[in-house]
Amino acid sequence: MIMLTLDTKIIKITGIGQIVAKRLEKIGLKTLEDLLYYFPFRYDDFSKETKISELKANTQANIVGQIELIQNKRSARKRMNITEALISDCSGQIKVIWFNQPFIAKNLKPGDNVSLAGKVEHNFSGFVMKSPIYEKIILGQTIHTQGIIPNYHLTANITQKQIRFLIAKALKQSQKLEDWLPKNIIEKQKLLSLSEAIEKIHSPANQDDINQAKKRLAFNELFLIQLQSQSIKHELKSARAEKLKFKEKKIKNFVASLPFQLTNSQKKSAWEILQDLEKDEPMARMLEGDVGSGKTVVAVMALLTAGFNKTQSVLMVPTEILAKQHFASINELLAKQNINICLLSNSEQKTNIQDFKEKSKTKTKQKIFELIKKGKIDIIIGTHALIQEKLEFNNLTLAIIDEQHRFGVEQRKILIEKSRNNKSIKCTPRAFPAGHPLGENFQLHLLSMTATPIPRSLALTIYGDLNISIINEMPPGRKTIMTRVVAEKNREEAYNFIKNLISKKQQIFVICPLIDISDKLGVKSVKEEYEKLDKKIFPNLKIGLLHGRLKPKEKNKIMADFLANKINILVSTSVVEVGVDIPNASVMMIEGADRFGLAQLHQFRGRVGRGKHQSYCLLFTDSNSPKTLNRLNAMTKYTDGFSLAKIDLQYRGPGEVYGTAQKGFPELKAASLFDYELIKAAKYEAENIFKNSDLNRFAKLKEKINLPEKMDYLRG
Ligand code: ADP
Ligand code: MG
Repeated sequence: MIMLTLDTKIIKITGIGQIVAKRLEKIGLKTLEDLLYYFPFRYDDFSKETKISELKANTQANIVGQIELIQNKRSARKRMNITEALISDCSGQIKVIWFNQPFIAKNLKPGDNVSLAGKVEHNFSGFVMKSPIYEKIILGQTIHTQGIIPNYHLTANITQKQIRFLIAKALKQSQKLEDWLPKNIIEKQKLLSLSEAIEKIHSPANQDDINQAKKRLAFNELFLIQLQSQSIKHELKSARAEKLKFKEKKIKNFVASLPFQLTNSQKKSAWEILQDLEKDEPMARMLEGDVGSGKTVVAVMALLTAGFNKTQSVLMVPTEILAKQHFASINELLAKQNINICLLSNSEQKTNIQDFKEKSKTKTKQKIFELIKKGKIDIIIGTHALIQEKLEFNNLTLAIIDEQHRFGVEQRKILIEKSRNNKSIKCTPRAFPAGHPLGENFQLHLLSMTATPIPRSLALTIYGDLNISIINEMPPGRKTIMTRVVAEKNREEAYNFIKNLISKKQQIFVICPLIDISDKLGVKSVKEEYEKLDKKIFPNLKIGLLHGRLKPKEKNKIMADFLANKINILVSTSVVEVGVDIPNASVMMIEGADRFGLAQLHQFRGRVGRGKHQSYCLLFTDSNSPKTLNRLNAMTKYTDGFSLAKIDLQYRGPGEVYGTAQKGFPELKAASLFDYELIKAAKYEAENIFKNSDLNRFAKLKEKINLPEKMDYLRG
């Protein structure tokens, strides 16, 4: 018997084998403390125990009684094992049946007291309870069938019973949780202590316990977010950035050179950004705009401005594919500009410098690094790899992060940490050597771009430190994408439709959902779909397969082939859903569409309709639930992300809409982004911390926000 602590590894718990521990690790649960922060997503209320004589048909009930008889039988017809038991309490008897779980007859013996929770039915022989959750009552302790029972999100092969057993163990250590929230805040906001909240979230006696626990845990999340943004804001106030003059003539020239007219929103956003750049305060702005609304060209105006001012800027994107595409399209936009740009990704590095000769791979990379260091390259486009590399800039003044919501916790953490260190990116101090007039307090201008539709008021509360620009109109002339929810029985017809388009040389995207959360990259589901289409459905067509486990080179090859129409149908996981432009693709087909949020479906849909073809979005689902179908049908009625996000919220709650579906958005598990009161309270308390003194007086808090990985559990 070992002494348990919060840090104890789950594997050390008696009765837990390697296999279960491994499975738990896959969903991020390693220690007892991790378990404590693995919150239930739902509760079953078995708090009212029903006497057997008072059971009603077709209801959920909890009974407590004694086993009179228990035996296994074989049903001849269906070749099933049936465990039958007779349970009695002081009021009567009831038959209980389990299917194909013969071991139950070994676990439970006549004379045992049991607690059962499940559905009661009425058949020809009277009342019967089918496949109830059962639990032997030992010393009056029950964790699965009595009171309010928590339900957890699970990976395959871990049962609710196992996880509850483990969490019950972990809860014995919950008193050791250190409460990092200052006492006066706890008192003023009438919050539970941390250990109380953790106990009550897992083991509530009633609804009020759940509410109180959620309030405290939600406050934790919101307060830390607010504290983080207040801390950034605080530091930005004293920081200085390089003024980047608005070069009116040159920018006007650039705009005139575009093959289209900017929309009013684009003009307005660009103007807000360019004005920020003219100040010696660092810009901290977020540019929000639906997929395809044209954020890139706005970003380019900022990048150009840095270049026109003879300084460097970076554009960071989440994937290699997107980096390449950005490089290509920006290179085109800048054809008439005297600006040097480069692409920096793991698999490929290149520049638009005329006499630059491609050498061997390592040489090319070295050469480009050198050119950057010497200040010969103005705009650097690359994946996050570039923020981790030992890259030295010459005079970097601006960083733009594209598809900010796609950046994982890891990448954002690096950025947050760096900006908190008063150095937005680690290269800054090197960019300005000792003695440089801008000195230590120098900061980059920072612009992040996202297609996540967050209403302005919300964004302001959550990202308190950021200014927001919104592009809320689409470039003119976009065709609406015809969207249909396709029932299983119409699948054949859909395939014929697709075949017909392919015969006209058009191309198709197929997106598959993650089926198993332990299969994080969705490799399994996407491979199965690929096999099916390749072997059975379209044996004569060229099918491509894209998932997160492919090497960057392989991914690039597939994307290049798809772009060149050497692949008819591209099967992909949602993991690789980013702003890649394939103008010839006219159908976005989504399997298991019900598993995605509307905002995410909308993002997928934005992948088509970018060329001249009428485009289609086909949402496949095998669900018949009216609620699910209604939710999906919203896709056929609305074409903008904001409306869809709002509708999704009605159906699924904010945690799912913004929290788990969108990587990188504040990962909220207990908190709701729509709990204005609590957000306000958290903001108020965070501001107070900075008003009355500074964070240095709150060692625990400081540690807390310096460790954003502590919030990883919120990823769900
Ligand atoms: P996103 O906001 O999703 O990043 P992009 O910047 O990739 O969108 O723009 C999508 C497409 O729309 C690109 O092909 C771009 O050239 C084009 N585009 C951008 N602005 C306009 C405009 N004002 N009029 C017409 N087309 C535009
Ligand atoms: Mg984009």
